[in-house]
Amino acid sequence: MTATASDAPAVAHFRFFTLDVLRTRRLGHSFLRVTFGGESLADFRSGGFDQSLSLFLPTGDQEHTVLPSTDEDTWFAAWRAMPDGERPVMRSYTVREQRRTAGGVDEVDIDFVLHGDSSPASRWAGRAVTGRRIMAIGPAVAENKSVRFQPPAGSDAIWMYADETALPAAAAILDGLPAGTPVRAWLEVPHEDDRLPLDTLAEADITWIVRGSAGRERTEQLLSVLRAEDPRPAEAPYVWLAGESGTIRAVRRHFVQERSVDRRAVRFTGYWRLGASEEQLLAEAYAGRAPSEDPASEL
Ligand SMILES: Cc1cc2nc3c(=O)[nH]c(=O)nc-3n(C[C@H](O)[C@H](O)[C@H](O)COP(=O)(O)OP(=O)(O)OC[C@H]3O[C@@H](n4cnc5c(N)ncnc54)[C@H](O)[C@@H]3O)c2cc1C
Repeated sequence: MTATASDAPAVAHFRFFTLDVLRTRRLGHSFLRVTFGGESLADFRSGGFDQSLSLFLPTGDQEHTVLPSTDEDTWFAAWRAMPDGERPVMRSYTVREQRRTAGGVDEVDIDFVLHGDSSPASRWAGRAVTGRRIMAIGPAVAENKSVRFQPPAGSDAIWMYADETALPAAAAILDGLPAGTPVRAWLEVPHEDDRLPLDTLAEADITWIVRGSAGRERTEQLLSVLRAEDPRPAEAPYVWLAGESGTIRAVRRHFVQERSVDRRAVRFTGYWRLGASEEQLLAEAYAGRAPSEDPASEL
């Protein structure tokens, strides 16, 4: 079943923005930071933490993203009706940072994992140069449902797991936590030099896991690390998990079943699924087959 206009992501708290590539910077083996500017960013209101947005990236030989409509009521149908090969791909990413520079320029950083040239977003990022223009649906108000990190009042510790796709979100969460917040974080990356420097005032105990294997073995490796290390005891931990969907399901089970964490205190999001493009995940979400926390279910 394919998506229809009535399935169009709501844009009440969101609107279209035009993002111009200002510069790029390699952060580690797998990460490329793209810094965007553009006049419309004056109205961009990131809620911080794991704020996500939907990017529209050009396909084929196109240099810039062109959408037939950015009108709230008509864009989705117009975008869907574009011919394959011309229709920009829609992908979910995280606002790593939004700032206004001393010179008054509004900037947004997005950290892309480069995972190969055959995937549209990874390929686009790998070729991004100053002056390229893309479109995004992003936050127009800071309190919006694409900030998923929402610890309930009374949480006395934060426990986190993120793979590389969720490292930008984990880093932004750590940036935003109040001084002294007890945090236990497990961060999984493909390469040694993907262990990026993290700034935080939280009292964060971080374990980096450099992935040694793929698929089911990878999940087993991760679970054995989680089982081996006891977080400091907490009465009411809030657990935030994001990464590959299958792994996230297993890690969630670990926290709920093996560590008896209240399932309502676990926020888990599949950021991608091994073997499935974001189009496939969206089609499943629109058909009602995907779990509610699957990619792009919120925009
Ligand atoms: C809320 C949210 C926030 C996100 N934030 C970020 C972010 O800040 N930075 C970031 O890099 N990603 C982020 N992601 C993940 C990103 O949207 C996916 O990785 C997406 O699939 C990338 O699109 P693509 O066109 O490169 O690959 P697709 O065309 O979607 O997928 C093609 C193939 O590549 C595989 N694949 C997808 N991603 C990876 C990967 N990282 N490593 C190995 N194989 C992969 C898929 O399983 C599929 O087989 C986020 C996702 C969500 C839902």
